[in-house]
Amino acid sequence: MQHTINFIREYYQTEEFIPLHAPVFDGNEKDYLNECIDSTFVSSIGKFVDEFELKLAEYIGVKRAVVCVNGTNAIHLCLKLVGVEAKDEVITQPLTFIATTNAIAYANAIPVFVDVDKDTMGLSPKSMLDFLEQNAEMKNKTCYNKKTGRRIKACLPMHTFGHACRIEEIKQICKEYHIELVEDAAEAMGSRYKGKHLGSFGKLGAISFNGNKIMTTGGGGVIVTENEELAKRAKHLSTQAKTPHAWEYHHDEIGYNYRMPNLNAALGLAQLEQLDQSLEKKRNLAQKYKAFFGQHGITTFEERTDEQSNYWLNTVILESLEERNLFLKEMNDAGVMTRPIWQLMTKLSMFQDCPKANLENAEFLEDRVINLPSSVK
Ligand SMILES: *Cc1c(COP(=O)(O)O)cnc(C)c1O
Repeated sequence: MQHTINFIREYYQTEEFIPLHAPVFDGNEKDYLNECIDSTFVSSIGKFVDEFELKLAEYIGVKRAVVCVNGTNAIHLCLKLVGVEAKDEVITQPLTFIATTNAIAYANAIPVFVDVDKDTMGLSPKSMLDFLEQNAEMKNKTCYNKKTGRRIKACLPMHTFGHACRIEEIKQICKEYHIELVEDAAEAMGSRYKGKHLGSFGKLGAISFNGNKIMTTGGGGVIVTENEELAKRAKHLSTQAKTPHAWEYHHDEIGYNYRMPNLNAALGLAQLEQLDQSLEKKRNLAQKYKAFFGQHGITTFEERTDEQSNYWLNTVILESLEERNLFLKEMNDAGVMTRPIWQLMTKLSMFQDCPKANLENAEFLEDRVINLPSSVK
């Protein structure tokens, strides 16, 4: 273990505590923030919001980007926008950060957990198809779970640590079964599959700009889509569903206060300018980890062919739970932060009774996957 600690300390050139992921602000962040404060438009409208949305849409390669206060409520809005209603089922993966599953719960819907693929750590199209072949019934171009009687309205796969899940295959299955596809691309800013940015495959996608993600707005997120109508509705719903008028208050449905403030957008705009540089550094660090762990017979998690991952969090897959626990203890005791992958959602009291498939790959990864310090420097 000591050689791993030395290797990481050498890379970061420090004897201090090494966090898992720290943000870097060495571009125009302070200039834009000052400009924003001087303008007094620090809240939910302002030129930085408009410019950040335009630049994001351009970078990601979609028609519209609608920024929100965080990634979790961006996902929640996406589910509302594709028509998820109370008691609908949403197919998702059990190996994810709690936000994915909470967003489904906010929509009063029920998560259905299918397995992940070992080589993507994302939702497995094979497991999804197996589940649907055994449980789905089509009525009037609507998919129902014949065991629960509930409508299966949407599918919410997640691109784990910035690596693409088998999104094309998932999209095909969604089409066959008339299920709406929303991507949790929270961790995948800057990641592409066959040149196409993650989050842009589904009807809607959500990306997070939380402080620990590859770029940050402090707190924040964005909904991306090719669909102008949905983008307009996203803006409307995130603005308390207020109908435009110079002075009257009128609201035409139950909306949310989910808009990103101008201050956060100012920070985001500066971060976006630095993103390509960060991506290069992160991909570089991933190569260094790969070479280092390769020498020691430890498997690092790699992108697949046709994929350009942002390598948000570098990942190793250890041999067993015991090895994982030892690795975590020794590294963290030495002041080098490492973390295990998430506990499966199916093990949490809130979600333990939800429908689920055989989850052997998720269980395998849960016991073995560790994230390494991955900040750029
Ligand atoms: C970070 C993250 C989110 C949402 O994040 P916020 O902190 O609300 O911006 C959602 N899903 C996954 C998988 C995440 O990692």
